[in-house]
Amino acid sequence: MVLILGGAGYVGSHTVRLMRELGREHIVYDNLSTGHQGAIEGSVLIKGDILDKEHLVKVMREYNVDSVIHFAAFSLVGESVTNPEKYYINNVYGTLCLLSAMKEAGVKNIIFSSTAAVYGDCPTMPITEEMPASPINPYGKTKLAVEFMIRDFCTAYGMKSVVLRYFNAAGAHVSGEIGEDHFPETHLIPNMLRATMGIGKGLTVFTSKDNEGDGTCVRDYIHVSDLASAHLLALDHLLCGGESKTYNLGSGNGYSVNEMLHAAERVTGKKVPYEYKGHREGDPYILVASPLKIEKELGWVRKYSSVEDIISTAWKWHNNRKNGYGDRE
Ligand code: UDP
Repeated sequence: MVLILGGAGYVGSHTVRLMRELGREHIVYDNLSTGHQGAIEGSVLIKGDILDKEHLVKVMREYNVDSVIHFAAFSLVGESVTNPEKYYINNVYGTLCLLSAMKEAGVKNIIFSSTAAVYGDCPTMPITEEMPASPINPYGKTKLAVEFMIRDFCTAYGMKSVVLRYFNAAGAHVSGEIGEDHFPETHLIPNMLRATMGIGKGLTVFTSKDNEGDGTCVRDYIHVSDLASAHLLALDHLLCGGESKTYNLGSGNGYSVNEMLHAAERVTGKKVPYEYKGHREGDPYILVASPLKIEKELGWVRKYSSVEDIISTAWKWHNNRKNGYGDRE
């Protein structure tokens, strides 16, 4: 049995959906602080907190859990700069509680959602897994701290892990039934599309720190369902006795915010109302992945190769559910 922590969140719910589509046994553990029950209809949800170690041990024993996929974390760079305490408690101490629970319950496999933010300002692109990690914001630092913790637990207690460093998760399930719904929403694609739909005040475009490139930051946008499929490959790798691994999950292609605006206009046929603001604290100028390692070692193949395809799925979701899951605000 696979326990999916934070499975009601954005990337988590798309992985849960894929598990359900493939008929793979799983249960979701989520406190619904940022996740949505409506995102995981048809799956068993256990409402609980990652900080509650005893509850985690009980659930792991009761359901005979052999593997954990761990999505439960706060993930906003800006918020992590102003409120690092929240990030260290939930992301670092929370994962320590999870690892202790796994140790106590004898659960050996963990797949962990890490991030491109662990790399910080890398001098060369694309980023490979061997490049030094040097995060420049508290969010990235909490994720890197957890990577160290996981490796030490693996070495000492015979656990196995796959660390997946996501670049920019984007898009929605092809059905338009589940998608991205954060409150408040801080991510580029939902903000861009909602602005196009006349929801809110229009898009604020953040500039690059020293006006590098076209004046906006470059990111590697990767479809959330492609992220989900990588989790299943990682799970099968561990269940087949594979060694611990760390992989980047991105496309290898970078797009500036200005380029994303043009792509959104091509997809929607509408102008995005926007205005430039200064730099957002903690944003590195450019983050582009080399996805070659996971492609080669686990045979990961992406279904969504263009940003237009990715934005189209998000556009379908936002039109289908103008208020998202309708459980906030
Ligand atoms: N961004 C923006 N306006 C927004 C949200 C994001 O200009 O309302 C920019 C942000 O500065 C970054 C890129 O879009 O360069 C992607 O930001 P997002 O928050 O989606 O992901 P992040 O890279 O921070 O994980």
